[in-house]
Amino acid sequence: MEESCLFCKIARGEIPVQRLAEDEHALAFPDLRPQAKVHVLVIPKEHFASLKEAEGKWDLIGRMHALAVRVAREKGIDESGFRTVFNTGPDAGQTVFHAHLHLLGGRALGWPPG
Ligand code: 5GP
Ligand code: ZN
Repeated sequence: MEESCLFCKIARGEIPVQRLAEDEHALAFPDLRPQAKVHVLVIPKEHFASLKEAEGKWDLIGRMHALAVRVAREKGIDESGFRTVFNTGPDAGQTVFHAHLHLLGGRALGWPPG
């Protein structure tokens, strides 16, 4: 846990969010600035900056995807489809350096992404 990290504060409950799904290791909540009808973030409860710091944590990365699928089902977008993505580093536009998985859906998503 990092004292001043935004997503650590959310994981600790210091910043209130709608806790859509969680387990011992990860938490799903709505993105503050949604880019689609459904835009949910799934974060690990432990701090690491991005996917490239996830060495040795691949089970956790899998659990985060499982939470995303659970939320996609609950939001009713599992049939229409959805996208899960980690932005890693500057070229991907990562802005928060506590790893997070985006779940996007509820509209047709363009490909390739911008
Ligand atoms: P990134 O660009 O790093 O992949 O994504 C960071 C995401 O975090 C953005 O989609 C942004 O809207 C979201 N975000 C930033 N601050 C907050 C916040 O305080 N609460 C929530 N729920 N989302 C946030
Ligand atoms: Zn953190």
